[in-house]
Amino acid sequence: MTQIKIFDTTLRDGEQSPGVNLNQLEKLELAKQLERLGVDVMEAGFPASSQGDFDSVKQIAESVKNVSVAGLARAVKSDIDACREALKNAANPRLHVFIATSPIHMEYKLKKTPDEVIDTAVEMVKYGKQFFDHVEWSAEDASRSDLDFLAKIIEKVIDAGATVINLPDTVGYTMPREYGAMFRYMKENVPNIDKADLSCHCHDDLGMALANSFAAVENGATQVEGTINGIGERAGNASLEEFGVALNIRNDYYPYHTNLVLKEIKRTSDMVSKFTGMTVPGNKAIVGRNAFAHESGIHQDGVLKNAQTYEIITPELVGVQSNNLVLGKHSGRHAFTDKIKQLGFTLSDDKLKEAFVAFKSLTDRKKEVTDDDLFAILTDIQTDTSNVKRYTLVDFKVQYGSSDKPNATVTLNTPKNDQQLTDSDTGQGSVEALYNTLDKIIYEDTQLTDFQLNSIGKGRDALAEVHVSLTVDGIAVSGRGSAQDVLEAAVQAYLNGVNRAIYQVKAI
Ligand SMILES: [Zn+2]
Repeated sequence: MTQIKIFDTTLRDGEQSPGVNLNQLEKLELAKQLERLGVDVMEAGFPASSQGDFDSVKQIAESVKNVSVAGLARAVKSDIDACREALKNAANPRLHVFIATSPIHMEYKLKKTPDEVIDTAVEMVKYGKQFFDHVEWSAEDASRSDLDFLAKIIEKVIDAGATVINLPDTVGYTMPREYGAMFRYMKENVPNIDKADLSCHCHDDLGMALANSFAAVENGATQVEGTINGIGERAGNASLEEFGVALNIRNDYYPYHTNLVLKEIKRTSDMVSKFTGMTVPGNKAIVGRNAFAHESGIHQDGVLKNAQTYEIITPELVGVQSNNLVLGKHSGRHAFTDKIKQLGFTLSDDKLKEAFVAFKSLTDRKKEVTDDDLFAILTDIQTDTSNVKRYTLVDFKVQYGSSDKPNATVTLNTPKNDQQLTDSDTGQGSVEALYNTLDKIIYEDTQLTDFQLNSIGKGRDALAEVHVSLTVDGIAVSGRGSAQDVLEAAVQAYLNGVNRAIYQVKAI
């Protein structure tokens, strides 16, 4: 069985999804989870793109030891230098340097002749190779490039020291047979191709990302790039959880395997969806809410007689707990601490105290606290950037009847001289009344661009989770909040977004 290496780019390509911006703690938490999931390489970011990205790549490189950590660089020395600096303490660093090879990109974007592109690629791979044992080279827009040109440049960058050759379908344009043929062509026409791993990177613009990844593997690719939940630029990337599970389920058909720890999939998927605010559709393969739900009577009857009649994947395989009812009012600190460990969190003593208080106050209002509830509480606390002065909610009230206009009153602790301020305003709905009031108190100029409300788990007393997109003094941020009450979750999400913007300005 050939091992297919998994290159995760949730933290780079995934983070480029419209409206997504993760803070440093969230990225670190996600990186640790990706390590548990068993990816072979994680692309932690694009260090030259911003100080924030540089810092988080550096922090991840210093914290994650069992996975190779990669940084992205354009084919310019300063980008490679930024990767070198950010990855200097990584246990197993990788440089990922790219240049476009399609006629349209070379002519209009790079304004370089094909020969100039070859020279630059070779020069930059050689430059990077002085500092990195592992150099991945990507031919951006490979799938729309001339095959002979591609073969020529690949041969030269391998001679220059590239150890992985990635051929992305950057714009999600290719069909599986075509994409596979490109890999086969390189296998057959590049004399030194066996000195490097071939890698695929597919986008889902035409819904082909996963099929294209399999086509690449069938034709010699030994590394697959993608993201969790398939998030990414535009329509997103290939979903790594789908790839890993498909290979596992169809190991009768494919002689390949991955090192993914499949039972970590659900947790990783939940974390990505929670941090990014990109909710997984119910019908999404592997991780959707309905992925294991049998609705039709005939199917249910079959499954009861023999699960394999309609069920090809068991929920347990990907870490979906059929019974995740856990703690309640009488659970003590010990049980709580045990559960936290079981869920994979490591909290500092202060944060543990904070989490226990939040848990206890939840049990006052909710009889059964599920893993999903705890997950929401813990990720909020774990990724809270509380070392920066910020807005916190003291109290709010909303008066609302179906025949009159909602009226909200809010009291906040503000970051300016720790002043506590109260104000009130109205709106067409309760949330608008609250947000109009928040705008009056908050010093920053804030605009709401998106609002999403979901429930965590089932039942009338389920926690509410709100994701918002905001611009705060011109900075686009997202925010999230969870609480048992919908309106409180809405307020927390708004404040979370504003606080993140403040934190980002401080971090620059
Ligand atoms: Zn991409």
